[in-house]
Amino acid sequence: MNYSSKRKRHAELSDLLDKYSRQYYIFDDPSVSDAEYDSYYRELLEIEKEFPELKSSGSPSQKVGSPVLKGFQKVVHPTPMLSLENAYNEEDISDFIERVEKISGRTNEELVLEPKLDGLSVSIVYRKGTLITAATRGDGLVGEDVTSNIMSLNCIPQRIDDCSEEIEIRGEIIILKSHFQELNREREEKGEKLFANPRNAAAGSLRQLDSQITASRKLTFFAYAIVSKQGNFATQIDILNALKKYGFTVSSEIMLCRNQSTAFEFYKKIEKRRVELEYDIDGIVYKVNDLSLQKKLGASSKFPRHAIAYKFPADKAQTTVLDIILQVGRTGNITPVAILKPITVGGVVVSRATLHNKDEVEKRDVRIGDRVILQRAGDVIPQILHPILEKRPTNAMPFVFPSICPCCSSPILKIKDEVALKCINFNCEAQLVERLIHFVSKFAFNIDGLGEQNIRFLFKKEIIKKPIDIFYMESKNKELHLENLEGWGKQSVENLFRSINAARTITLDRFIYALGIPQTGRAVSKLMATFFHTYEVFLKCIKNKEGQRLCEISGVGSSIANDFDIFFSQENNLKLVIGLCGDENSPGIIKIMDMASPENDIFDGQSIVLTGSFEKFSREGVKELVEKFGGKVTSSVSAKTSLVVAGTNVGQKLEQAKKLGIKIISEDNFIKIVDKK
Ligand code: NAD
Repeated sequence: MNYSSKRKRHAELSDLLDKYSRQYYIFDDPSVSDAEYDSYYRELLEIEKEFPELKSSGSPSQKVGSPVLKGFQKVVHPTPMLSLENAYNEEDISDFIERVEKISGRTNEELVLEPKLDGLSVSIVYRKGTLITAATRGDGLVGEDVTSNIMSLNCIPQRIDDCSEEIEIRGEIIILKSHFQELNREREEKGEKLFANPRNAAAGSLRQLDSQITASRKLTFFAYAIVSKQGNFATQIDILNALKKYGFTVSSEIMLCRNQSTAFEFYKKIEKRRVELEYDIDGIVYKVNDLSLQKKLGASSKFPRHAIAYKFPADKAQTTVLDIILQVGRTGNITPVAILKPITVGGVVVSRATLHNKDEVEKRDVRIGDRVILQRAGDVIPQILHPILEKRPTNAMPFVFPSICPCCSSPILKIKDEVALKCINFNCEAQLVERLIHFVSKFAFNIDGLGEQNIRFLFKKEIIKKPIDIFYMESKNKELHLENLEGWGKQSVENLFRSINAARTITLDRFIYALGIPQTGRAVSKLMATFFHTYEVFLKCIKNKEGQRLCEISGVGSSIANDFDIFFSQENNLKLVIGLCGDENSPGIIKIMDMASPENDIFDGQSIVLTGSFEKFSREGVKELVEKFGGKVTSSVSAKTSLVVAGTNVGQKLEQAKKLGIKIISEDNFIKIVDKK
């Protein structure tokens, strides 16, 4: 990969990591496993190692946590609350020790090994022995004020036997595995959203605006640091002893060691015992014991240099297969799915796992009732590795694939060269629903308020049976009265109609994608749309049954063209297209935007920053041109910026762009580029 593709990838990764961090830190609701987050993070670090100029202050590699959640008072930390550098193998630890010993000038430096508790770090300040404030880490500099919540917990002393002016204690709020299961059971009974894992349950329970809710959750606090008043202590071990004396819980799995092999043995021992512990840990923290050396080592903006976290590899877990069900996809593919007894693995609660296809079920011989080993590593989708044969119940029978569709009872067929079995009834209800879900999905019509649940609900109520019904809901609402449906109201219905109306204009590629033609994903839809260029040409191709012309497109073979023909040989599909977009005889109810020619798509996917004042265009005019040619105008320069268009009286942005080596063009040159098109 060259510099520009690396920069692009860096920008993609930054966006992704920022999004995941927001979900994780602000909303306590991660959408990916920690292993997956960490693998993207490592990829970002690799790119920054190669191109250090991409390491701007906005990069995820330079930021701690996330800003404070709205509604909380802010607390400025007297000393920043940093993150920990991660180590993934023994070599990383050896390098860390080497760096430490280079600064200390000694060998066999003492290290304190502590479990890395998977919770939420909290700072608690005591004045003359009385608890006065407590705060979360937030972005490291400013945290959320959680004083009353912390005070509501019995596990935290309100007073400690230390009369110094001020003393700051740090540690981790966690929830025991058993309490986590109990909490999620209660939530399930109440129909509330389950917490993904104990870490998020602990964070979500502490970060409550109502401290009574926090008090009702069984939270635990493990202390591991005293930040102020360090002068009174010589070592980390002294600190841990003082914490115990003050009445805090300190982990019992702690070791002081001087040599690497003992340090690695401890890691292995705890990793093995990890499942038996009452609480989740995700690694071992290696800390320099000598506090004067800790001070000398200092810190970067993100990590202290005296400590490192050696993370455990992705989790594996055991659970029971309660059932095996068959899911029918939008193209009729039948996928077997194992329904599991819910279990936390890789940081999230898993209750189902795909078994992919019939061959896979037979190969792995997974049976209902089996205990299975599950892994959730570097991937969101959990994987069943294998059943534990010794634990197989005697009555567990091999899973037999039915020969008819579980939804519509049509025959299931094996299509030549395809692994999946297929329900060939195009009007199978399961397929209809899946196609509707796909039709409104993010990269298709992207209709807010019509998520999977609502589609299923409206299909069941026979309000939406086919895509076209979506666009008639508003005009038919005098009969439908959607606002009277359970869980709906006037406002939500108005919002829904607003997003449906906004979706009435759509680009040709999104429209083709929305139809759900087999083998036609986003990339192929874009190729097709660029080839057709306009809706009229697309329609002519369908009406004249000229799908084989698609083979002219590089990247589209005869198999895709065949599926295209088969899809439109179904009269319903042609009717759907004409019903939505019209033809020479009917006007249609939505508008398809033509595709820009590839040669006209000059700013495709680019982030462009405008700076200064422009003479020949208004700023809005330049923005419109950028958008017309496929680009997006963003307000600030970052490593993600592709181009800066500079007018006169430019500001800071130009300097920043120069520093980052981003291409800069004048207004005149911008006009020349767009004029050529
Ligand atoms: P971290 O949680 O990996 O490590 C730093 C924290 O460890 C400290 O702030 C402290 O709270 C805690 N800690 C636990 N035990 C400790 C001990 N004995 N001594 C000192 N500190 C101890 O770092 P982070 O910056 O909070 O988070 C980064 C990690 O969070 C990532 O590696 C990833 O695994 C996870 N994450 C996941 C997602 C996701 O979507 N799944 C998103 C963002 C972050």
